[in-house]
Amino acid sequence: MKKQETKPGEATIAVTTGRSSRTHHGVVNTPVYHASTILHSDLASFERRHQPGNRERVVYGLLGTPTTFDLERAVADLESGHDAVLTSSGLSAVSIALLAFLRTGDHVLVADTVYAWTRIFCDEVLPGLGIAVTYYDPLTGSNIESLIEDNTRVIFLESPGSLTFEIQDVPAITAIARARGITTILDNTWATPLFFKSFEHGVDVSVHAATKYLSGHGDIMMGVIVSNERCWQVVHRTRNQFGQCVGPDDAYVTLRSLRTLPVRMQAHQEQGIALAQWLATRTEVARVLHPALPAFPGHALWQRDFLGAAGLFGVVLQPCPRQALVALVDGLELFGIGASWGGYQSLLIPVYPEKNRSVTTWDEAGPVLRIHAGLESLPDLVADLEAGFARLGTAV
Ligand SMILES: *Cc1c(COP(=O)(O)O)cnc(C)c1O
Repeated sequence: MKKQETKPGEATIAVTTGRSSRTHHGVVNTPVYHASTILHSDLASFERRHQPGNRERVVYGLLGTPTTFDLERAVADLESGHDAVLTSSGLSAVSIALLAFLRTGDHVLVADTVYAWTRIFCDEVLPGLGIAVTYYDPLTGSNIESLIEDNTRVIFLESPGSLTFEIQDVPAITAIARARGITTILDNTWATPLFFKSFEHGVDVSVHAATKYLSGHGDIMMGVIVSNERCWQVVHRTRNQFGQCVGPDDAYVTLRSLRTLPVRMQAHQEQGIALAQWLATRTEVARVLHPALPAFPGHALWQRDFLGAAGLFGVVLQPCPRQALVALVDGLELFGIGASWGGYQSLLIPVYPEKNRSVTTWDEAGPVLRIHAGLESLPDLVADLEAGFARLGTAV
């Protein structure tokens, strides 16, 4: 193939990356390899199987097959990372990334607005291993320096923050971490590899819940850890030490979904912004928590560092009695009531940010809704919410 002068566009990468299928009789998509045992032609080949060399050598089902290698390659390429490993869930991607770089006696700084189960892992598992955890205000930026101890080994970031969408100054934090030899891990699930380029912003390790947009259809549990070259060996090794792997059918489906990630993200972005703008005009709404809206406090940082906005955002309602909130939510026809997000269907749930932080406060008086903008027709979604507000109004 002719060497490309300029880097191909992202949609082109999404279509062309991870296509070892070309060697599988010309079928378009890399086939599903169901594998545990891999048979060798002779003893010499068997004895050579773990020698260093080609990373994509098929030696044991746990360590990967063409189906999983292609998916790992594809996610790494989309984020311009060195390489990637798959794990069984987004949460295991978080926990394995942390355990790859933390040992007894170490200290980790964790953003106060991380995903709830990341916090639970940090609170309930790390202390038992003799690892100290300090939460920090996600808006702290370069002031993070004052929290660094001699034994700080990892700074964990998530931007925007779960539930409340605080945008972190990632380059300011990674610059300080780098100067101190501290590894940075970013939960980049919201932005996906398309809308935030972790490695261009100095991040060492980027984790994704592929359960969300990467698989994108509400039916897969999977995580991905993408890493730069420096951190790659330890990330790969730790994933293997924990015996993490994914089902071949799930890997196939997720790789298939990645082909449309740029198209889907564009659609989720437009739909999310349109809904957020409409919600901002409603008298029932106190604030809209959406980084792409100019009124949002993190908007300038979002504009500086991100290439787009996902379809997940928040809405703070004016204070209302519980029965009014119930009337709004229970009567919705298109917005599903359910955890997780990133699929084609719109979702809406109340969330409770005050329960999920310890060094920052959340003192909005009204209930907070988390909305995922799916791929339905916009006027139908607006009508569904409008009817919800009407129910809320009569129930007050
Ligand atoms: C959903 C989510 C996770 C966990 O992913 P699972 O696949 O559900 O384990 C981690 N981080 C963020 C930001 C998430 O939204």
